[in-house]
Amino acid sequence: MLLEIKDLHVKRGNKEILKGVNLNVKENEIHAIIGPNGAGKSTLAYTIMGVSGYKPHKGKIIFKGEDITNKSITERARKGLTLAWQEPARFEGIKVKDYLKIGMNKKYLGREEEKIREALELVGLNPDRYLNRYVDESLSGGERKRIELASIICIEPDLAVLDEPDSGIDMISMDEIGRVFKYLKDKGCSLLVITHREELSNYADRASLICGGEVVKTGTPEEVADFYKRRCGKCKVV
Ligand code: ADP
Ligand code: MG
Repeated sequence: MLLEIKDLHVKRGNKEILKGVNLNVKENEIHAIIGPNGAGKSTLAYTIMGVSGYKPHKGKIIFKGEDITNKSITERARKGLTLAWQEPARFEGIKVKDYLKIGMNKKYLGREEEKIREALELVGLNPDRYLNRYVDESLSGGERKRIELASIICIEPDLAVLDEPDSGIDMISMDEIGRVFKYLKDKGCSLLVITHREELSNYADRASLICGGEVVKTGTPEEVADFYKRRCGKCKVV
């Protein structure tokens, strides 16, 4: 198992948000997390990544057989774990091509630009128009989102956690997202994809439904989407 989350409890302020999450992600698996707003999906993503303020008071996160519950973001990244933010981080004043070199997989050493061009094309951005643009307010939310995805493509981490890669004003279409997922999977990556759009789980090998700070169902995307539709309307969290 690539990632094992065991009985994970996380508080924000004095409110318990994650109430015993159990979740496994296999090697080379695309695993979708669906669930209503406020269910704790982003909290889970930040906790997996080790963002400060998201320290579990109970439970464990095991990555590649190693307990990373108390490791820093940097240590986790070094081990092959990467997070794409729901609101992509802005690297003011840095060019897109330099941003995409950060953390680039070592196997592309010496042919960085070729890889960067491939990544930009995959996310629907013309490399000639974007390589020398600056990552700043002149980029739309959707463009930043695409660049964030391009960054994952360049890093090729063992596991990428994507928090709503499909959200934003000029949204990325399901087909485009599906293409990026397939590319990453072919390269051997695993993905944990958080979405509130159920259709996205069609691109996943497995899915889990998180509700009220717990994983209430794991199965095929069809099983989980069906359970969500039939059962979740009755849940008091919604
Ligand atoms: P999701 O991503 O599934 O929409 P979040 O993980 O963002 O959900 O939030 C889960 C719950 O945690 C929500 O009810 C939210 O209001 C609450 N929450 C988030 N941050 C804090 C905080 N700093 N203090 C108290 N509650 C918080
Ligand atoms: Mg969220």
